[in-house]
Amino acid sequence: MELINCKKCGRTFGSTDGEQFCKKCREVELDELFKVVRDYLYANPGASVEEVHDKTGIEKRVIIKFLRDERIEIVEDENALLTCQRCGVSIKTGKFCNKCKHEIDRELRSAVHDLQHKAHDRRDSDGPRYHSKKK
Ligand SMILES: [Zn+2]
Ligand SMILES: [Zn+2]
Repeated sequence: MELINCKKCGRTFGSTDGEQFCKKCREVELDELFKVVRDYLYANPGASVEEVHDKTGIEKRVIIKFLRDERIEIVEDENALLTCQRCGVSIKTGKFCNKCKHEIDRELRSAVHDLQHKAHDRRDSDGPRYHSKKK
């Protein structure tokens, strides 16, 4: 990391990977890119990432970042760009397909249920012993 001055606002910041702009300016720029993508999709619903990239010149990885952040959604059903991080099917937005989202949700819930159940069981088996000791 080296300290350099932001090419846009002049602020000194620690640059990694040869970044020329400070974090704040990069965020502003990303926001501007997002507006361009959003406006393009608004005017052209159903546009593919490829098309958005071609027409706006915005890097695909930036568009995909917006998709991963669930800021925009791909309308086309099949795309190899965004895949579920759990099962690998193509998805439109986010990190997981709907099926995996449900499964993850269910697994979480049953894990919580198991814990509650175990706590409950323990209470049950402890109960009688506690009472019998008291008698
Ligand atoms: Zn800056
Ligand atoms: Zn999945």
